[in-house]
Amino acid sequence: MSAQKDLPAHLTGGNFLFTETNPALVFTPEELTGDEREMASTAEKFMDKEVFPHLEALEHREEGLAPKLFRQAAQLGLLGLEVPEEYGGLGLGKVAGIGVAEQISRLAGFGITCGAHSGIGTGPITYFGNEAQKKKYLPRLAPGELMAAYCLSEAGSGSDALGMKTKAVLNAAKTHYVLNGAKMWITNAAWADVFVVFAKVDGEHVTAFIVEKTFPGVSTGREELKLGLKTSSTRRVILEDAQVPVENVLGEVGKGAYIAFNILNLGRFTLGAGAMGAAKDLLRTAVKYAGERQQFGRPIASFGLIQHKLGEMAARIYALESALYRTASQMDQVKATGELVYSMKAGHFRAIEEFALECSAVKVAGSEILTFVADEALQIHGGFGFTEEFSPARGTRDARINRIFEGTNEINRLFIPTNLLRRAAKGKLALMAAAMAAFADAQKESAPEKTGDDLAAAQFVLGRAKKAVLLLFGGAHQKFGDKIIHEQEVLAVLSDLVIDIFLGESAVLRALKLRGQSPNAGTHADLALVFVNDSVARMENRARDAIAHMATGDELKMQLGLARKMLRWTPLDTVALRRRIAARLGTVGSYPALIAAK
Ligand SMILES: Cc1cc2nc3c(=O)[nH]c(=O)nc-3n(C[C@H](O)[C@H](O)[C@H](O)COP(=O)(O)OP(=O)(O)OC[C@H]3O[C@@H](n4cnc5c(N)ncnc54)[C@H](O)[C@@H]3O)c2cc1C
Repeated sequence: MSAQKDLPAHLTGGNFLFTETNPALVFTPEELTGDEREMASTAEKFMDKEVFPHLEALEHREEGLAPKLFRQAAQLGLLGLEVPEEYGGLGLGKVAGIGVAEQISRLAGFGITCGAHSGIGTGPITYFGNEAQKKKYLPRLAPGELMAAYCLSEAGSGSDALGMKTKAVLNAAKTHYVLNGAKMWITNAAWADVFVVFAKVDGEHVTAFIVEKTFPGVSTGREELKLGLKTSSTRRVILEDAQVPVENVLGEVGKGAYIAFNILNLGRFTLGAGAMGAAKDLLRTAVKYAGERQQFGRPIASFGLIQHKLGEMAARIYALESALYRTASQMDQVKATGELVYSMKAGHFRAIEEFALECSAVKVAGSEILTFVADEALQIHGGFGFTEEFSPARGTRDARINRIFEGTNEINRLFIPTNLLRRAAKGKLALMAAAMAAFADAQKESAPEKTGDDLAAAQFVLGRAKKAVLLLFGGAHQKFGDKIIHEQEVLAVLSDLVIDIFLGESAVLRALKLRGQSPNAGTHADLALVFVNDSVARMENRARDAIAHMATGDELKMQLGLARKMLRWTPLDTVALRRRIAARLGTVGSYPALIAAK
C-alpha cells in the first residue's frame, strides 16, 4: 500500500456527517462549463435524432440496431469520457459525465448498453489495467470499435458475489489460465467483444481476467426475457475450458474482489445519474400531459393533488441532482491530486474508494426517486398511463431494475453504515468520539430553532440530524457492539438517515450558494425546503423504529426524547411551496427550465 496523504476535510468521504460544510465548497450544476454543457447537449441531440425515432424497433430488438447506435454514440465521444486521452478517450471527470449519462438513460435499455460498456466494462481496464492492457484495449473500446461487459454475478451468487464458483487454473505450460463456470445476467453479453470476468484461481483467489469473446471456450446463453430494459442484451456468459492468456490477468491474482467492488462504486454513481435523467424525462412528460388533459372543464394541472405530485417529483430530483454534482466534483478534485490508494502496477485513484458511501447513497436514492417519479407520472396519465401510448409505462418497467443491480438497495443500505464503522475502525473518521460528543451536546443543548430564514433553519436542523444519527450509532454500538452487523433493520435506519441528511444538505447548500447569485434562487430554496421538511419527519419516524428495538423503560423514553429534541422542526407550508413549484413547471415545461436562471 502506498502511504495516503491526508486530504482536506471536505474531500474526505463520509465527512459531511461530522462537520458543517461551507456552501462555497460545494459544486453545483449551475457552475458547469460551456464544454460540459455542450457534451450533454450533443448527447441530447443524438438521443432525439438518432435513437428515439427507432424506439419501437429497439424495443423489439431489431437485429443489429442497438450495436449500430452504440457505435454512433461512441464515435461522438460519448462513451470514452473517462478513458485518458493517450488511449483514445476524452480524459474527462465525473462532473462532465453526469449530463451524458442522464441523456443516454432517457431510454434506459440503451443507456445500460452504453453505461455497462463505458463504466463497469471499460472502467476496470482504465483504472486497473497495466500499460500493455490499456494500449491494447482502450483505443478500441473508447471509440466503440469493441464493446465491453462486466461478468461478476452467477446463478448461485449475486449479492454474495464472492461466493462465485467460476474457477481458473494455470495450465502446465504456465501460458494460460483455464476458466470454467457460467456468469449470469451479463449486460451486453450478446454483442460484447471483451468480458471482464471474475473467477477464483484454484477455486480460492478471486481474480479479474480480460476475456475476449473469440478465445476458445467462450460462448453465451439465450437472451433473458426481461420485465424492462427490452432494448438491451442480458445473457449468461459460459466458460468451458476457456483459454485466457496469463497476460490478461487484470491487476494481480487474488486482488479481483478489490477491483470488482471499486468498479461497482463507480457503477453506482453512474446509475444515480442515469436514474436522474430518466426521472427528469418522466417529469417533463407528466407536466405536459397535466397541462393538456382536461377534466371537470379544467386542465388537471390546476388541481392541488396533481400540483402536489409535480412539486414533490421536482423536489426529490433537485436533492438527488445536488448530491450527485457535489460528489462528482469531490471525486474529480481527489483525482486531480494524483493520489493513488493502492500500489497495483498501474495504480488507481483514491477517488473511487474515498466516496464509496456517497456512491451508494446516490444509487439507493436515485433508484427510489426514479421509482417514485415513474409511478406518479403514470398516475398523472390515468388510464392512458397504463398503455404503451405514453412513456410512463415503459419508464415504470425500466425503473424497477435499478433497485436490484449494482448491489441491491438492501445490500447498499447495509454497506453505508458498515463503511462508516470500517473507516472509523481504521482511524479515518472519529465516529465514536463524535457520537460521545453528540450525546454530551444533546444533554445540554436547548436547541432553539432558527426563525426568519428558512434555509438557515433547514441547515440548522440538518446539523442536529447529524447529531441524531451519531447518537444512534453510539447507542447501537453500546447495545450490540460488533454484533451490530447482524442488526440489519437498525443498519437500514442509520442508512436512511445518512441518505436523507446527505441529499437534504446538498440541496440546502446549493440553494444557499445561489442565494443572491441567481434570479431564480427562490425556486431553488422552495425545492430544497420541500425535501428537508419531509425528510425531517421521515427521519424521526425511522429513528423511533431503531430506538424502540434498542432500549426499554426509562432508557427508551430518554432516547426518544433526545431524538425528538434533535429533530425538532416547525413544519413549513409545503402545500404552498409545491403549488409554486408546480405553477412554474407548468409555465416553463421541464425540470431544467424550472431551475434555470430566469
Ligand atoms: C437486467 C440485469 C442486468 C444485470 N447486469 C449484470 C452485469 O452486467 N454483470 C453482473 O455481474 N451482474 C449483472 N446483473 C446481476 C445483478 O447484479 C444481481 O441480480 C444482483 O446483484 C442481485 O443478485 P441476485 O439476483 O442473485 O439476488 P440475491 O442476491 O439472491 O438477492 C435476493 C434478495 O435477497 C436480498 N439479500 C441478499 N443478501 C442479503 C443480505 N445479506 N441481507 C439482506 N438481504 C439480502 C437482496 O437484497 C434481494 O432482495 C444484472 C441483473 C439484471 C436483472
